[in-house]
Amino acid sequence: MAKYKLEYIWLDGYTPVPNLRSKTQVKDFASFPKLEELPLWGFDGSSTQQAPGGSSDCMLKPVAVYPDSTRKNGALVMCEVMMPDGTPHPSNSRATILDDPDAWFGFEQEYFMYQDGKPLGFPVDGYPAPQGPYYCGAGFKAVGDIARQIVEEHLDLCLDAGINHEGINAEVAKGQWEFQIFGKGSKNAADQIWVARYILNRLCEKYGIDIEYHCKPIRGDWNGSGMHANFSTKHLREVGGKAYFDALMAQFGKNMEEHVAVYGPDNHLRLTGLHETQSIDKFTWGVADRGSSIRVPHSFANNDWKGYLEDRRPNSQGDPYQIASRILKTFSEVPTK
Ligand code: ADP
Ligand code: MN
Ligand code: MN
Ligand code: MN
Repeated sequence: MAKYKLEYIWLDGYTPVPNLRSKTQVKDFASFPKLEELPLWGFDGSSTQQAPGGSSDCMLKPVAVYPDSTRKNGALVMCEVMMPDGTPHPSNSRATILDDPDAWFGFEQEYFMYQDGKPLGFPVDGYPAPQGPYYCGAGFKAVGDIARQIVEEHLDLCLDAGINHEGINAEVAKGQWEFQIFGKGSKNAADQIWVARYILNRLCEKYGIDIEYHCKPIRGDWNGSGMHANFSTKHLREVGGKAYFDALMAQFGKNMEEHVAVYGPDNHLRLTGLHETQSIDKFTWGVADRGSSIRVPHSFANNDWKGYLEDRRPNSQGDPYQIASRILKTFSEVPTK
């Protein structure tokens, strides 16, 4: 038997976007615990905007577990928040996602590192050189020193945890970075994004740096941060066809406002039609078009309209649970026959 440190992680009740919360439970296990072995646990919902003080108990239900290599015998336990009667709490967006083991998502999480109220690498006064050299750059002038160290440490911690990172890159603005995570199953990639965000936030504590997830932290000619959602269902990958694609896009167009409502706050600041975005009030798709709401990869159009699509509208602060939930809801409204 060994004492395992189980970090129970959950989303609080703040709007428009939840914050990550976590606390540690120490328990004896013979080896790294399986999900089924992890108990429910309670917390004070009155401190997280999830319950009134007079009836403050909420429940944490483990839904995924990952090794935590920062701690001896550590585990990161992603949880859903439940009511005391076992039903999902109203803030539990994960519970709204349709179960579909054949739905695949790939999220591209962009973010800024922030120190002393501005992006890491910005001078004390004013701005650094304009955008251009930073995207996928190398060298102190392009990416600074600490940033890459953090990004590399984060990548290793995520890989240790079994998180399916597919890549990382320095982004267009100074101090801005991206990682991509892919997962099969309707909730899988979203779970991993939340845990990867948690690992990143926690890692940055010792550097005196915070992650700024807001989609447009600096006004002016600086790129905002997105979280492009790449998605496919079994039908889209294996049957597809132009008629189905057209019907799907018509439904995305019809539901434009419902999608944008859960694609992250302040998105009007980012979806301007500039900086590789479409305006927030237009829905368009285009082959290889980064100025469209939905980019259709060449591989999709050339493969009889089969494969995956990229919704470019979700932003860096969006809740991947709400985003996946909305996308699959729109799919469910389009007949596959
Ligand atoms: P770009 O920056 O050009 O948009 P990235 O390489 O950053 O492209 O991201 C592409 C994303 O597409 C990755 O997250 C990947 O996991 C995802 N992806 C690839 N194939 C599929 C698929 N069949 N279903 C869902 N997502 C996919
Ligand atoms: Mn990308
Ligand atoms: Mn990007
Ligand atoms: Mn993209």
